[in-house]
Amino acid sequence: MKNRINQRFLNALNGGTALAVPIILAGVIVALFFGPAFERIYIVFLISLMVVIGMGVYSGNSGIMSFGHLSFMAVGAYISGILTISTNLKKVSLPLLPDFLKGIEIGLVPSILVVIGITIAFAWISGKILSRLEGSAASIATLGLLVIVHGLVIAAREFTRGSQSFFGVPRDTNLALCIVISALIIIIARLFRDCLPGLQLRASRDDLAAAESIGINAKKRRLQAWIISAVMVAVAGVLLGHFLGTFSPKKFYFVDTFALLAMLIIGGMESVSGAIFGTVLITIASEFLRRLETGFVVFGVQIPEIFGTTQVGIGLVILFVMYFRSDGLLGRFEIDHLFRRKKSFAPNRENSVDFEQIVGRQSSEGCLQAENVVMNFSGLKAVDQVSMKLFPNEIVGLIGPNGSGKTTLLNILSGVLESTAGSVSIDKTDVTGMKSYEIARLNVSRTFQNIKLFSGLTVREHIEVAAVSSGGGDDSSAGDLISALLRFMGLEKEASRLAVELPYGLQRKVEIARALALKPKFLLLDEPAAGMNSDESRQLMKELLKLRDDMGIGVLIIDHDMDMMMDLCDRLIVLNEGRLLAQGTPRVIKNHPGVIEAYMGRKRKN
Ligand code: ADP
Ligand code: MG
Repeated sequence: MKNRINQRFLNALNGGTALAVPIILAGVIVALFFGPAFERIYIVFLISLMVVIGMGVYSGNSGIMSFGHLSFMAVGAYISGILTISTNLKKVSLPLLPDFLKGIEIGLVPSILVVIGITIAFAWISGKILSRLEGSAASIATLGLLVIVHGLVIAAREFTRGSQSFFGVPRDTNLALCIVISALIIIIARLFRDCLPGLQLRASRDDLAAAESIGINAKKRRLQAWIISAVMVAVAGVLLGHFLGTFSPKKFYFVDTFALLAMLIIGGMESVSGAIFGTVLITIASEFLRRLETGFVVFGVQIPEIFGTTQVGIGLVILFVMYFRSDGLLGRFEIDHLFRRKKSFAPNRENSVDFEQIVGRQSSEGCLQAENVVMNFSGLKAVDQVSMKLFPNEIVGLIGPNGSGKTTLLNILSGVLESTAGSVSIDKTDVTGMKSYEIARLNVSRTFQNIKLFSGLTVREHIEVAAVSSGGGDDSSAGDLISALLRFMGLEKEASRLAVELPYGLQRKVEIARALALKPKFLLLDEPAAGMNSDESRQLMKELLKLRDDMGIGVLIIDHDMDMMMDLCDRLIVLNEGRLLAQGTPRVIKNHPGVIEAYMGRKRKN
């Protein structure tokens, strides 16, 4: 694992550096060969770039669009302004400022450090609140943040001069500082995206339930991304304040939010390259449109000034790009991948350890137990007073007609649903009410009836993110674990492909491989053979037997193929209309009158 993580870190560092170098070079060229007018354009570009990349760190990785980031920019600009305006000027510009602030006058760089500290605190508080919300509710909350901070800036007249211009900020922002900070931001953004936190966050963006099922605490990762992105944007705010010297609250409101979001969306927010590309494109386009706006001459005809050309033009570009490429121009593609040598994946069969050896044998002590669990969906008892046990080293089939509560029971066992009544325990530890990512860390893993894969992750990354997220196990073996699992499940050839691009049967395998990467003691499979052809399901049976016989894993499997279940399972548990109808060996179940009745009755109804 150490090696694997280091490898990820190095790749990300290389990628980030590769993206930063052209930005630095262009800056040097601008400084050497272009005049001050162009230098100013490049500084504005770099500040926009910091904001766009910052917004991408949160929105791109979490999938939650943020409209609120410019409030951090305002925090940066105003706080650093108050700290850096000369004490003499403050007497004029901010006469109502409290005395302890009036006496302060620090430089640009120290003010950046203060702003970073304050932003971390502010982002932590706002992020805590935000992390309770999902999807579009979270997006709307970020919009609320923008409006609230805007209102506060206007209200805090003693500190900000309200809606009037805030002036006298020393114009200390220079090209060199902007180049250094934007290069740093590019590299940090790339490290975050490609290393474990970003990988986990992207997994939870693609499928929250699946991410939690492998032990990912999505809220925690989201909060981290929020704080990092807030700091990036706040620093950009400091630089903007010290570039303009004079600004007012509306500089950090809707119009600029729209323009900066446009850059992110058009470039593609799922990659750092996309953020850079979008910023370059829109900066060029708006420079061009702005010139058009002031009127121009075509073939000797004077076209008059057309107000709003820039906004309308950018709006049209967004519509156009979204129509043809809804993920933005670059999508999740990082430009440096073009230059990366394709490592051919040639597993060394002689030296490599088998999955069986890595997992070893699970202890035969303990069990996964449900006691009198009830699940009430607004009146419908999907599960009604069911008790059951799953021991290590056995394969138990969970059967019953459609709608009999099998999936619901499995959801309760794995913490996806909290039961209305009853309790669940793992090896005598009461886990009732625990989150599914906590249960995953207790060696219980699962697959889903409707395949849940991470659309942005390769097959290998599915296994990797599961192996590192579950928290258990020996770290140094994760690299081996990934190769061994790919081999065990017969997925070696597909390792570098996006999992969602595979045929259905292989997607099922990826899901099982992801669950196995947790080295579970208990494995819960919801219709794993659905959609597999007969070869594939026979192969799956063999693998399940190995899990039991060689590794001592307890497997709970839901499936409709009765012949397969009778062959495969040591015990069967039969549900009917949410109640436990019978349990016992396949032979007992086959001849159980109630079971025959339930199935035959069902057939008659059909
Ligand atoms: P099975 O997996 O055995 O086919 P399920 O556990 O999916 O059955 O469903 C059991 C019953 O609970 C069904 O009647 C289903 O419609 C209902 N049900 C399942 N999930 C929900 C839910 N989230 N909200 C309301 N009803 C649900
Ligand atoms: Mg089901």
